[in-house]
Amino acid sequence: MECACDITQCFNKPHKVLLFIPPVFAYEDVEWHHGAISRERAEALLSGSPDGVFLVRESTNFPGDHTLCVRFRGRVEHYRVKWATAPDNQNQRLTIDDEEFFDNMTDLIHHYLQDADGLCTKLVRCLPKALPNGANNNGVLQPSYPPHPQQPPPYPPTPSVSSALSSGHFQHTYSTQMASSDQTDSSLQPQNFVDARWKIDERDLEIRENIGKGEFGDVMLGILNGSQKVAVKILKDREAASKFRAEASVMASLTHDNLVRLLGLVFTSSGSTCIVTEHCAQGSLLDYLRSRGRHYVTQLNQINFAYDACCGMEYLEGKRVVHRDLAARNVLISAEGTAKVADFGLARNDATMDDPAEAARLQAKLPIKWTAPEALKYNKFSNKSDMWSFGILLWEIYSFGRVPYPRIPLAEVVRHVERGYRMEAPEGCPGGPYEVMRAAWHADPAQRPTFAATRHRLAAIRDAAHHAQRAHPAP
Ligand code: ATP
Repeated sequence: MECACDITQCFNKPHKVLLFIPPVFAYEDVEWHHGAISRERAEALLSGSPDGVFLVRESTNFPGDHTLCVRFRGRVEHYRVKWATAPDNQNQRLTIDDEEFFDNMTDLIHHYLQDADGLCTKLVRCLPKALPNGANNNGVLQPSYPPHPQQPPPYPPTPSVSSALSSGHFQHTYSTQMASSDQTDSSLQPQNFVDARWKIDERDLEIRENIGKGEFGDVMLGILNGSQKVAVKILKDREAASKFRAEASVMASLTHDNLVRLLGLVFTSSGSTCIVTEHCAQGSLLDYLRSRGRHYVTQLNQINFAYDACCGMEYLEGKRVVHRDLAARNVLISAEGTAKVADFGLARNDATMDDPAEAARLQAKLPIKWTAPEALKYNKFSNKSDMWSFGILLWEIYSFGRVPYPRIPLAEVVRHVERGYRMEAPEGCPGGPYEVMRAAWHADPAQRPTFAATRHRLAAIRDAAHHAQRAHPAP
C-alpha cells in the first residue's frame, strides 16, 4: 500500500485515481480536505509538522471559498483560494494570487507541489484526514471542486458598524483574539490612534454595500457623519488586525492628493477594527483599465494616471517611505478621475528588515512580477525598487490592465529578467512612456531614475498628449 500522504504519486497516476473514484464524489472522501474546521483547529492539526505539510479547509470568512493552510518555519500560513475571472478567460477559475488560475483544486495543489510560486514554501505533502470509517483514502485525489457558489446575499441596507460586523457576512475572529494580539504588540494599541485623534466613533459611521474584497478584509462603502462617502476596510482576523494597524500607522503620517487619505479608525463595540479612508468612486485602476479598455481610455487618460501615481510616489520618495507593493490593483481612481496610490500594507519607513523570520514571511508574499530583482533576491527594498514596480505599473496602464509577462510562466520570470529580458512595449504604446519603463527596469538600482525626475519626463509627455488631443479631438 502506498503512503497516504504522498499526494504527488497519486497525482501522477490518473488511471489509478479513476479506479478509486466512488460513484458520488464528496469532499469527505478526500484526505487533504478537512472540511469546515476553524483556523485554530487547522493550526493545531499542523503543529509539529515539517515545512510544506498542508491541508485545505472551508473558509469561515468567505463561505464557498477554501483556505490552503501550510506549515512553514514554525507557523501556519493561510491562503485564501477564491473563484475569480482570469484576465484571458471569461470563466471563473480558482486562484490564490490572481496570477495563476486553475480549473480545480487538484490542479492548484499539483501546481504548488511543483513550485512555491509565491507561497511561503513549495507544498510537500498533505496532512491526511482520518475518514469517518477510520480508513484512509490512498489514491482518491481527483475530486471536482464544488460549483461556483452563488453570489453572497446583498448586504443589508445601512446597519450600524457593529451590527454589520456581527451579521453572517463578516464572520471575524478578531474580537476574541484582539486582547492577546494587543498584549503582544503595544504599538498596535487602539489608544495610539485615540491619542492621535484618528479614532472615529462608530455611531458616526453607517455601513453600506460591499465595494471590494482585499486579502485582509472586505471593503465597504460607508457614510461618515451622515453625508461623506468613505471606504471602510474591515479586518477579518488577527493577522489582518496587525497588518491593518501597521497600514494605518503608515498612512496616518502621509497626506498627498495622489495618496488615498486615511480618515481614521473605528474600534467597534464588538471588538473589530475598521480603517476608514477617502472613497475613490471609480475603484481600482486595474478594474478601470480592464473594464473600459482601449475604446474608452485615451492616451491622455493613460498619461494622467501615470503622472498622478508618480506624484504620489515622489511624495513617498521625499518622505523616504518605500511602498513595496505598487501595482495597478493598488491605485484607486477618484470620482474626478485622479489616480491615488493606496494599500500601504507593506510600506515601511525603514527598508532594512531586522527580523529574518519577518523578512522571509514578507518575501514569500511578494508579487513576483512587480518586484525588483534585488528585492526578490536580497530583500533590498528602496525607492529604486519601487521605481521598478512603477515601470510595471506603466506597462499595465498601456496594456489596459494585462497581467505582466503574459507569455512567461511565473516560475520563470525571475530567471528571464536576470538574464536581461525585458517586456516589449504594449501594443499602441507611444515611445515616451516605454522609455520611462525601460529606465525603471535598469538592472542596477542606482541607474534607475528618481520619481522626481520621472515626474518631469511624464509631465512633458502629458503636455504633448494634451496638445495632440486638442489638435485632433476625438470624434
Ligand atoms: P490588501 O492586500 O491590503 O487587503 P488589496 O489590494 O487586496 O489590499 P484592498 O485594498 O482591500 O485590496 O481593496 C480591495 C478592493 O476594494 C479594491 O480593488 C477596490 O475595488 C475596493 N476599494 C478599496 N479601497 C477603496 C477606496 N478607498 N475607494 C473605493 N474602492 C476601494
